[in-house]
Amino acid sequence: MDFPIVELMDREACVAWLMVHFHPNGMKCPHCQASLEQSILFRRTKRSDLDVRRCKACRGIYNLYSGTEFEGRQFTPEQTILFIREMVQGKPTAKLSSELNISRTTGLTVRHLLQKNAKTEQATEPLSDLEVETDEMLQNAGEKRRKTR
Ligand SMILES: [Zn+2]
Repeated sequence: MDFPIVELMDREACVAWLMVHFHPNGMKCPHCQASLEQSILFRRTKRSDLDVRRCKACRGIYNLYSGTEFEGRQFTPEQTILFIREMVQGKPTAKLSSELNISRTTGLTVRHLLQKNAKTEQATEPLSDLEVETDEMLQNAGEKRRKTR
């Protein structure tokens, strides 16, 4: 049985979630940093169905994905959220792409870009405290191996 999860998701809730997580300091014009209030609704994208804003200060256009790895891609907000969620949970790209109805090449490209960003953002300095709680450790670390001879 197929669950049409993308169709069951609420568009407004998805856009609101992406707005908070993609633009934590508020969406701004990527060209001149003017606020969202200084823009007008210009049009909607065809495939991803996103509002395209036109900046009144510099006449530049932008949308929810501007400045992110999803910029220029045709993911709907629902596909974007599910893609991130399933990727973080470790679902293979082929399965993920097929379920979200995106090409495997696109899926793989976006996955690699997100993984590269995650690696760049990873803290390099050691933790400030010397003690580590067991629940802070990787759940799958230290798996048992077969006995040595
Ligand atoms: Zn601008």
